[in-house]
Amino acid sequence: MNKTGTLNKLKKDILNDKITTQFLEQIAGPVAPDIIKIYGKDSALSPEDISNKLKTKITSVRSTLNSLHYRGIACYKKVKNNQNLFEFFWEIKFKKIIELVLETEIENIKKLEEQINLQQDRDYFFCPKKCIEAPFEVAAAYDFKCPNCGKNLEMINTKTHISSLKRKKQLAHKNIEKLNNILENIEDKTSGYICE
Ligand SMILES: [Zn+2]
Repeated sequence: MNKTGTLNKLKKDILNDKITTQFLEQIAGPVAPDIIKIYGKDSALSPEDISNKLKTKITSVRSTLNSLHYRGIACYKKVKNNQNLFEFFWEIKFKKIIELVLETEIENIKKLEEQINLQQDRDYFFCPKKCIEAPFEVAAAYDFKCPNCGKNLEMINTKTHISSLKRKKQLAHKNIEKLNNILENIEDKTSGYICE
């Protein structure tokens, strides 16, 4: 595979990653993954170009780009056109996307570890309507009824629960490995652009 081919494949790998897509939606709204997808092939696009390609309102393209810029993902440059007016062109910093997703995955692992430690040697209770999860002492204080909806609290099978948490942790570790590998090999074309 030539260099551009490899680069496009890496970008595709990023966009096929569910955690990444969710993260982009979370920080910049539902159009964000679609915009990033365009940059899998194209580069240096104006908001109008993007709006035409996606058949999405220009206002939502602009606000999404601004949210992405706020996180250092979307970078712009101003270019004077024939009428002596400034036009904006945008580029995507793929490395930044990966760095931010890596941060959230590391946070995610920390939380999972905390949950695993908490539940390791204790009975845990949960509301069937998912209002709360509580250790034995707290559940007993509530008289084993959900303080929010009044349903009887049920005991969590901690063994299955912990092994499912551990599985999630393993998946996060695998994802981190994959993303680090992409991070090492991907190059951005953002020189001359303002990213922060
Ligand atoms: Zn409840």
